[in-house]
Amino acid sequence: MLKRERKLEKKIAKERIDILFKLMEEMKDKDYDLARRYVELARRIAMKYRIKIPKVFKLKFCKKCLYPYKEGRFRVRIAKSRVIVTCLNCGYVKRIPIRPIRQKISKENKKGKG
Ligand SMILES: [Zn+2]
Repeated sequence: MLKRERKLEKKIAKERIDILFKLMEEMKDKDYDLARRYVELARRIAMKYRIKIPKVFKLKFCKKCLYPYKEGRFRVRIAKSRVIVTCLNCGYVKRIPIRPIRQKISKENKKGKG
């Protein structure tokens, strides 16, 4: 019997999430419901393979109803130290704290592909 290659599985899962979010970006102006479906799929993959959805992507959809952020569908307000995003579909309020930018030398070992 073949041994499951969990590391490889997770790698592929991450790639799929990446692709799904890219598709979501492309589709959200054309077919909003399909864009939501992509988010749903990405979330399912993340759960199945127990990987985290990258923070950047997490900011792109409503946690509750999974609809991707789009102008007119969400209300964005900036408070003292946080950004408050309200989903106009389900009413979910997301508060994103703003932290002062720490000056850190970014690691330059990331290889740019593409
Ligand atoms: Zn929502």
